[in-house]
Amino acid sequence: MPASTYDPDYDFKFEDSLAHNIYPAEKMQKAREADHTSLAAQVCTPELWDKLKDRKSTGPAGWTMARAINTGVMHPDSFVGCHAGDRESYDDFSEFFYPVIEKYHKGFSMEKGSDLQGTPSERMDPGRISVDLSESARSKIISTRIRVARNLSMFPLNPGGSKESREEIADLMEKVYATIPDDSDLKGTFYRHTAMSDTERQKLIDDHILFRGGDRMQAASGYHEHWPHGRGVYLSGDTQFVNWVNEGDHLRIISMEQGGDVKAVFSRLSRAAAMIENGVRAMTGQEDVFMMHPKFGAVTCCPSNIGTGMRGSVHILVPKLIEAIGFEEIDKLCRARNGQARGSSGEHSEVIDRIDVSNWRRIGLPEYELVEDMINCANYLAEREDAL
Ligand code: ADP
Ligand code: MG
Repeated sequence: MPASTYDPDYDFKFEDSLAHNIYPAEKMQKAREADHTSLAAQVCTPELWDKLKDRKSTGPAGWTMARAINTGVMHPDSFVGCHAGDRESYDDFSEFFYPVIEKYHKGFSMEKGSDLQGTPSERMDPGRISVDLSESARSKIISTRIRVARNLSMFPLNPGGSKESREEIADLMEKVYATIPDDSDLKGTFYRHTAMSDTERQKLIDDHILFRGGDRMQAASGYHEHWPHGRGVYLSGDTQFVNWVNEGDHLRIISMEQGGDVKAVFSRLSRAAAMIENGVRAMTGQEDVFMMHPKFGAVTCCPSNIGTGMRGSVHILVPKLIEAIGFEEIDKLCRARNGQARGSSGEHSEVIDRIDVSNWRRIGLPEYELVEDMINCANYLAEREDAL
């Protein structure tokens, strides 16, 4: 079978001055004049750059500031604009990353850290969700998906990784998937991009099961390097449990189904995430499976996902509301309720008759509370739709 191909335009490229470890003064100035200044440009002043430019992270990536801010410099329309290359990056460049984290996760303090009780699996408890979808919201919901981003502690993060590290991760995961019992609803098949045709890949993307790749911002962060090696997707027989392997983060553990049974989706996620964690632990003999940071929890490539790494979303049909006030306005309404709106084909995608509504916060709050944010937001949008 032909391997899935890739547009070389999306290979990693260094911005010219960063490639020479020179502060991109003009571009940073432009970024500061934009409507939204990326968090990277807000924090990385010339003074801070001078202080950090020759530092290397102490982890396996040997990460640098030039690599960390490449996305924000190449794409002044980035919201965050920076990435970590290994777990150590966050602390080794704390003068840069801590303010970025605090700017993105408003109200979160790196000094205090998050003080969550129990393990993520314990907090992914549907019994603790105290709100319900309204009848109206339920009738408008097409599908529900909740995912957590996770990285494996024995490897660098992918922007700081190699072809080999990506392949080793995929090989390890393939072995873990093989241990899932045949009679489990989570049992399925691992499909690798190196054995997938473009048509097969596109079909999975159209079915909302697979990541798209080919994103200019992700390319600038190094997500797409060495494509298609080590990339893949695990899919349970009923297609309700999905793992993305090496999209950006090592793993996206996903639970999804048609309709609005949020609690069932959450419950499957909890069970599946614990199974993956135990499976990797058994396979590697390593106690610390997922990369965790003592202050904020799950470590991810993009500072926006750290913490719980969780995004719960519903696709909700609100055609009249979209027509009446438009996507930007809907997003503002969601933001005011701790939610976020996206197009229904993923981040930065087009909006037609439905909206992807999700929790916007990811850190310092228990997972079940983030699900509540999403439910409250969906109920509100349904109410607004009904009023038109
Ligand atoms: P993530 O935060 O997981 O990276 P993206 O916005 O990049 O999410 O979307 C990833 C994929 O998941 C896209 O194909 C998107 O359509 C799909 N998706 C997200 N939420 C839902 C949902 N509630 N129902 C069906 N598909 C969804
Ligand atoms: Mg995404």
